[in-house]
Amino acid sequence: MKLETKLEPDSALVHAVHASPNFEERRNGWPPSMVILHYTGMTSAEGAIGWLANPESGVSCHYVVDEAGAITQMVAEHARAWHAGASRWYGECDVNSMSIGIEIQNPGHERGYPDFPPAQMHAVAALCRDIISRNRIVPQRFLGHSDIAPGRKIDPGEKFDWAYLARGGVGHWVTPSLDLSAPCSGDEAAMLAEALELLRAYGYGIDNPGRDDWPKVLIRSFQMHFRPARADGLIDAGTLDTLRRLVDALPEPVIA
Ligand SMILES: [Zn+2]
Repeated sequence: MKLETKLEPDSALVHAVHASPNFEERRNGWPPSMVILHYTGMTSAEGAIGWLANPESGVSCHYVVDEAGAITQMVAEHARAWHAGASRWYGECDVNSMSIGIEIQNPGHERGYPDFPPAQMHAVAALCRDIISRNRIVPQRFLGHSDIAPGRKIDPGEKFDWAYLARGGVGHWVTPSLDLSAPCSGDEAAMLAEALELLRAYGYGIDNPGRDDWPKVLIRSFQMHFRPARADGLIDAGTLDTLRRLVDALPEPVIA
């Protein structure tokens, strides 16, 4: 495969092209089979684009979506951008070779974490649908950075509106349980054990990297995406119910 030196936009939705030198060929010729959503964690989209195009940053993505919904393409979809870092999904570590990365402008949890504006959400959803039109990406492989790098990344976070994306035909989703009650004392250990097995079946990398807070980190990552009303990392009946229904709703049988 020859990598183009001149970047042509893959999508008619792209407002601007700003080529990043930070890319390479996808390993093993893998076509994109996942979309990973991020927030930039920077104060402006312009600043993020500058950083993602800086050879010294060692990072990049395919698309940046600013607060107003303007889309900038930085790496061709066929190429491997550098957005996922140390990650894991279904036991696969080279997420960059399998994915398209979208950076959504938001300063992030450390800078006030404002809501994602409707115009921005609208653009992200439209871009995702457009990506689906060119690439075979099943709904359950639209994921957040926090899903593939729990404990290391918390973007795009609990304010990102995955329910809105799902209503627009993007991603895998079940309506979260409204039960926010705490578990009865003594039930937590069994609930947590079941939850970890279900998370593994869904694709999360649950191997303990030696952190004492690991179960809490995993549960919080799941909650931020799928039960965002309370993402505290504590197992509860509503989280477990949501997770059970999510796994049940997988379109193909899960090989555990
Ligand atoms: Zn990220």
